[in-house]
Amino acid sequence: MTVTQNYKCVNCGKAAAALFKTYGPTVLKLTKCESCKGIVDKYIEYDPVIVMIDLVLMSKEAQRHVLYNTEFKSFWKLLIILMMLETYGVWRNDSLFNIAVNSLCGFENVNSTDISIPINITIPDSWKSNCWAWEQVVKEDDSDLFIWEKDFYIQFLSILSGLLAFIISVQLLMKIATPRNEVPLLRVLKAFSLADVSILFTLPMLVWGAETSPDTRIVHYLLVFGYSFVVFLNVFTVLYECPLLVSIVILLIGNITKYATCYVTTPILRTLIS
Ligand SMILES: [Zn+2]
Repeated sequence: MTVTQNYKCVNCGKAAAALFKTYGPTVLKLTKCESCKGIVDKYIEYDPVIVMIDLVLMSKEAQRHVLYNTEFKSFWKLLIILMMLETYGVWRNDSLFNIAVNSLCGFENVNSTDISIPINITIPDSWKSNCWAWEQVVKEDDSDLFIWEKDFYIQFLSILSGLLAFIISVQLLMKIATPRNEVPLLRVLKAFSLADVSILFTLPMLVWGAETSPDTRIVHYLLVFGYSFVVFLNVFTVLYECPLLVSIVILLIGNITKYATCYVTTPILRTLIS
């Protein structure tokens, strides 16, 4: 056990020198927290399944365990899978973001997966200058398989740029809000991957949702977005130890930055790669 490692008590978030002490080859004692007197990290004895269930239930203790007391080395693999899932939804024109874009641009329903929200507010024409890149082409012709694939890569890069915009804006704003709390970028990426797991709940709709009504679809995606937002809020309060209200505002700005970046990046990429 190295002392240089920054362990944290999962209950109160105070720094801890070690998670356990060994007394001989078979005897192991969990360390108690000096601040709250609880066990620093009970999860090191738990089955990973229990940790996962607690993560789904948004337990801050479980989040601290993963972020501070484990290495969580393969977070980038998880992140790539989650980004591909998000890309798939956007590529299929089947996500909350697409519904918003379709409504903004005033697109008619092209295929069954399109839904639009009737937006009555007037939208500045300059916003609509990017609409051409989001117009849906009916994907039926088998000969155009390459174009679909290219389209997937374009949307993947667009999602990636949105993700970077989100992380940079959140990190910068949090730095202003909590100047004394230095959070390394690697830990931010780990926290982002951990919270982003919440978008897995869009999967049932993407796989089996072809027959569902537009209303059900929109409610499902709104619920997933709400859940995901709360998960991000929880993880970010653990990470930055920022007041709740400030975190909500920063997270909202981060989300707007992310989707605005995606909306603008796709047309740029389509112009470059054509
Ligand atoms: Zn403690």
